[in-house]
Amino acid sequence: MINTNKLKHVFFDLDDTLWDFEKNSENVLNRLFNQHQLSNLLSSDFKTFFIAYKKKNAELWQQYNNKKITKEELRKRRFHETFLQFGYTNFDLSYFISESYIKESPYGTELKKGAIDLLKKLQNNFELHIITNGFKEVQHIKLKQCNLESFFENIIISEDIGYNKPDVKIFREAEKLSNAKANECIMIGDNFETDIRGAKKAGWESIWYNPYENKRYQAQQVKCLTELINNET
Ligand SMILES: [Mg+2]
Repeated sequence: MINTNKLKHVFFDLDDTLWDFEKNSENVLNRLFNQHQLSNLLSSDFKTFFIAYKKKNAELWQQYNNKKITKEELRKRRFHETFLQFGYTNFDLSYFISESYIKESPYGTELKKGAIDLLKKLQNNFELHIITNGFKEVQHIKLKQCNLESFFENIIISEDIGYNKPDVKIFREAEKLSNAKANECIMIGDNFETDIRGAKKAGWESIWYNPYENKRYQAQQVKCLTELINNET
Protein backbone atom coordinates (compact mmCIF):
# COMPACT_ATOMS: atom_id res chain seq x y z
CA MET A 1 0.00 0.00 0.00
CA ILE A 2 2.95 2.31 0.66
CA ASN A 3 5.36 1.57 -2.15
CA THR A 4 8.97 1.74 -1.00
CA ASN A 5 10.36 1.77 -4.55
CA LYS A 6 8.72 4.99 -5.49
CA LEU A 7 7.75 6.83 -2.33
CA LYS A 8 10.19 8.55 0.00
CA HIS A 9 8.02 10.81 2.13
CA VAL A 10 4.99 9.96 4.25
CA PHE A 11 2.94 12.92 5.47
CA PHE A 12 0.47 12.41 8.30
CA ASP A 13 -2.44 14.49 9.41
CA LEU A 14 -2.46 14.87 13.23
CA ASP A 15 -5.98 15.29 14.68
CA ASP A 16 -8.03 12.11 14.53
CA THR A 17 -5.40 10.40 12.38
CA LEU A 18 -2.60 9.93 14.94
CA TRP A 19 -3.89 11.93 17.93
CA ASP A 20 -7.27 10.72 19.16
CA PHE A 21 -9.15 14.00 19.33
CA GLU A 22 -12.45 12.43 20.35
CA LYS A 23 -11.09 10.30 23.18
CA ASN A 24 -8.88 13.11 24.49
CA SER A 25 -11.74 15.59 24.54
CA GLU A 26 -14.01 13.08 26.29
CA ASN A 27 -11.34 12.57 28.97
CA VAL A 28 -11.02 16.31 29.63
CA LEU A 29 -14.77 16.81 29.76
CA ASN A 30 -15.15 13.89 32.12
CA ARG A 31 -12.56 15.41 34.44
CA LEU A 32 -14.19 18.86 34.32
CA PHE A 33 -17.61 17.28 34.87
CA ASN A 34 -16.38 15.70 38.10
CA GLN A 35 -14.29 18.68 39.26
CA HIS A 36 -17.25 21.04 39.04
CA GLN A 37 -19.75 18.52 40.34
CA LEU A 38 -21.85 18.89 37.27
CA SER A 39 -23.77 15.72 38.07
CA ASN A 40 -25.43 17.68 40.90
CA LEU A 41 -25.76 20.98 39.06
CA LEU A 42 -27.20 19.41 35.92
CA SER A 43 -28.88 16.44 37.60
CA SER A 44 -27.33 14.26 34.94
CA ASP A 45 -24.75 11.54 34.53
CA PHE A 46 -21.68 12.21 32.40
CA LYS A 47 -22.78 10.07 29.48
CA THR A 48 -26.09 11.90 29.02
CA PHE A 49 -24.34 15.25 29.32
CA PHE A 50 -21.61 14.23 26.85
CA ILE A 51 -24.11 13.13 24.20
CA ALA A 52 -26.00 16.45 24.56
CA TYR A 53 -22.73 18.42 24.39
CA LYS A 54 -21.51 16.62 21.27
CA LYS A 55 -24.80 17.33 19.51
CA LYS A 56 -24.76 21.02 20.47
CA ASN A 57 -21.09 21.36 19.59
CA ALA A 58 -21.61 19.80 16.13
CA GLU A 59 -24.58 22.09 15.50
CA LEU A 60 -22.57 25.21 16.43
CA TRP A 61 -19.50 24.06 14.45
CA GLN A 62 -21.70 23.79 11.39
CA GLN A 63 -22.87 27.37 11.93
CA TYR A 64 -19.25 28.44 12.43
CA ASN A 65 -18.12 26.69 9.24
CA ASN A 66 -20.93 28.45 7.38
CA LYS A 67 -19.71 31.73 8.86
CA LYS A 68 -22.99 32.31 10.73
CA ILE A 69 -21.26 32.63 14.11
CA THR A 70 -17.73 33.57 15.22
CA LYS A 71 -15.27 31.31 17.02
CA GLU A 72 -15.83 33.38 20.17
CA GLU A 73 -19.60 32.80 19.97
CA LEU A 74 -18.99 29.10 19.45
CA ARG A 75 -16.83 29.02 22.57
CA LYS A 76 -19.33 30.98 24.63
CA ARG A 77 -22.40 29.08 23.53
CA ARG A 78 -21.55 25.39 23.30
CA PHE A 79 -21.43 24.72 27.04
CA HIS A 80 -23.95 27.35 28.06
CA GLU A 81 -26.59 26.06 25.68
CA THR A 82 -25.92 22.46 26.66
CA PHE A 83 -26.28 23.42 30.34
CA LEU A 84 -29.58 25.20 29.59
CA GLN A 85 -30.97 21.90 28.30
CA PHE A 86 -30.45 20.57 31.82
CA GLY A 87 -32.03 23.64 33.41
CA TYR A 88 -28.72 25.17 34.59
CA THR A 89 -28.40 28.85 33.70
CA ASN A 90 -25.08 30.07 35.20
CA PHE A 91 -23.20 31.53 32.23
CA ASP A 92 -19.96 32.25 34.11
CA LEU A 93 -19.40 28.62 35.05
CA SER A 94 -20.16 27.48 31.51
CA TYR A 95 -17.61 29.96 30.15
CA PHE A 96 -15.01 28.93 32.70
CA ILE A 97 -15.49 25.29 31.70
CA SER A 98 -15.25 26.20 28.02
CA GLU A 99 -11.94 27.99 28.59
CA SER A 100 -10.58 25.16 30.76
CA TYR A 101 -11.55 22.66 28.10
CA ILE A 102 -9.65 24.57 25.40
CA LYS A 103 -6.61 24.95 27.65
CA GLU A 104 -6.47 21.35 28.85
CA SER A 105 -7.43 19.43 25.69
CA PRO A 106 -4.02 19.45 23.94
CA TYR A 107 -2.44 17.72 26.93
CA GLY A 108 -4.30 14.49 26.19
CA THR A 109 -2.12 11.53 25.28
CA GLU A 110 -4.57 9.10 23.66
CA LEU A 111 -3.40 8.06 20.22
CA LYS A 112 -5.20 6.10 17.54
CA LYS A 113 -4.68 2.36 17.68
CA GLY A 114 -1.47 1.31 15.95
CA ALA A 115 -0.11 4.86 15.61
CA ILE A 116 3.22 4.33 17.36
CA ASP A 117 3.86 0.90 15.82
CA LEU A 118 3.16 2.30 12.37
CA LEU A 119 5.52 5.26 12.85
CA LYS A 120 8.25 2.97 14.20
CA LYS A 121 7.95 0.71 11.20
CA LEU A 122 7.73 3.44 8.56
CA GLN A 123 10.65 5.46 9.91
CA ASN A 124 13.01 2.70 8.70
CA ASN A 125 12.09 3.27 5.08
CA PHE A 126 10.67 6.77 4.77
CA GLU A 127 11.04 10.33 5.93
CA LEU A 128 7.99 11.13 8.02
CA HIS A 129 6.28 14.52 8.32
CA ILE A 130 3.11 16.11 9.68
CA ILE A 131 0.78 18.45 7.83
CA THR A 132 -1.93 19.77 10.10
CA ASN A 133 -4.57 22.47 9.94
CA GLY A 134 -4.34 24.07 13.33
CA PHE A 135 -2.69 26.47 15.71
CA LYS A 136 1.02 26.02 16.27
CA GLU A 137 1.01 26.33 20.04
CA VAL A 138 -1.69 23.73 20.47
CA GLN A 139 -0.34 21.23 17.93
CA HIS A 140 3.18 21.32 19.36
CA ILE A 141 1.84 20.60 22.86
CA LYS A 142 0.04 17.49 21.54
CA LEU A 143 3.14 16.19 19.76
CA LYS A 144 5.36 16.81 22.75
CA GLN A 145 2.98 15.27 25.28
CA CYS A 146 2.79 12.09 23.21
CA ASN A 147 6.55 11.92 22.47
CA LEU A 148 5.83 12.07 18.76
CA GLU A 149 8.16 14.91 17.77
CA SER A 150 11.23 12.74 17.19
CA PHE A 151 9.51 10.72 14.45
CA PHE A 152 9.08 13.70 12.16
CA GLU A 153 11.52 15.63 9.99
CA ASN A 154 9.03 18.43 9.39
CA ILE A 155 5.97 19.51 11.31
CA ILE A 156 4.02 21.69 8.95
CA ILE A 157 1.27 23.70 10.58
CA SER A 158 -1.20 25.72 8.56
CA GLU A 159 -0.95 28.69 10.90
CA ASP A 160 2.79 28.94 10.17
CA ILE A 161 2.40 28.50 6.42
CA GLY A 162 -0.64 30.73 5.99
CA TYR A 163 -2.68 28.17 4.02
CA ASN A 164 -4.95 25.34 5.15
CA LYS A 165 -5.33 21.92 3.56
CA PRO A 166 -6.80 21.33 0.93
CA ASP A 167 -5.10 24.41 -0.57
CA VAL A 168 -2.44 23.03 -2.88
CA LYS A 169 -0.04 25.73 -1.65
CA ILE A 170 0.48 24.01 1.70
CA PHE A 171 1.39 20.78 -0.12
CA ARG A 172 3.86 22.63 -2.35
CA GLU A 173 5.40 24.26 0.70
CA ALA A 174 5.65 20.83 2.32
CA GLU A 175 7.55 19.53 -0.73
CA LYS A 176 9.94 22.45 -0.53
CA LEU A 177 10.59 22.04 3.20
CA SER A 178 11.12 18.29 2.79
CA ASN A 179 13.12 18.55 -0.41
CA ALA A 180 10.63 16.17 -2.02
CA LYS A 181 9.07 15.72 -5.45
CA ALA A 182 5.29 15.31 -5.71
CA ASN A 183 5.57 11.73 -6.98
CA GLU A 184 7.61 10.72 -3.91
CA CYS A 185 4.92 11.84 -1.44
CA ILE A 186 1.94 10.14 0.15
CA MET A 187 -0.59 11.72 2.54
CA ILE A 188 -2.41 9.76 5.25
CA GLY A 189 -5.39 11.49 6.87
CA ASP A 190 -8.93 11.07 8.16
CA ASN A 191 -10.55 14.03 6.44
CA PHE A 192 -11.42 13.29 2.84
CA GLU A 193 -12.12 16.90 1.90
CA THR A 194 -8.90 18.37 3.27
CA ASP A 195 -6.31 15.58 3.44
CA ILE A 196 -7.24 13.39 0.50
CA ARG A 197 -8.66 15.91 -1.96
CA GLY A 198 -5.75 18.24 -1.21
CA ALA A 199 -3.13 15.52 -1.76
CA LYS A 200 -4.75 14.45 -5.02
CA LYS A 201 -4.74 18.03 -6.29
CA ALA A 202 -1.03 18.22 -5.46
CA GLY A 203 -0.35 15.05 -7.42
CA TRP A 204 0.45 13.01 -4.33
CA GLU A 205 -0.65 9.52 -3.48
CA SER A 206 -2.99 9.24 -0.52
CA ILE A 207 -4.53 6.82 1.93
CA TRP A 208 -7.76 7.78 3.56
CA TYR A 209 -7.94 6.71 7.21
CA ASN A 210 -11.65 5.99 7.41
CA PRO A 211 -12.42 4.30 10.76
CA TYR A 212 -16.17 4.88 10.56
CA GLU A 213 -16.34 3.40 7.07
CA ASN A 214 -17.88 6.46 5.51
CA LYS A 215 -19.16 5.30 2.12
CA ARG A 216 -19.44 8.74 0.58
CA TYR A 217 -16.15 8.74 -1.30
CA GLN A 218 -14.15 6.23 -3.31
CA ALA A 219 -10.49 6.19 -2.36
CA GLN A 220 -7.62 3.99 -1.30
CA GLN A 221 -8.46 3.62 2.38
CA VAL A 222 -7.96 1.75 5.65
CA LYS A 223 -10.27 1.31 8.61
CA CYS A 224 -7.43 0.99 11.13
CA LEU A 225 -3.80 2.15 11.10
CA THR A 226 -2.72 -1.41 11.90
CA GLU A 227 -3.68 -2.40 8.35
CA LEU A 228 -0.80 -0.26 7.15
CA ILE A 229 1.73 -2.00 9.39
CA ASN A 230 1.23 -5.31 7.62
CA ASN A 231 0.58 -3.96 4.16
CA GLU A 232 3.77 -2.13 3.37
CA THR A 233 5.22 -3.27 0.05
MG1 LIG B 1 -7.79 15.05 10.97
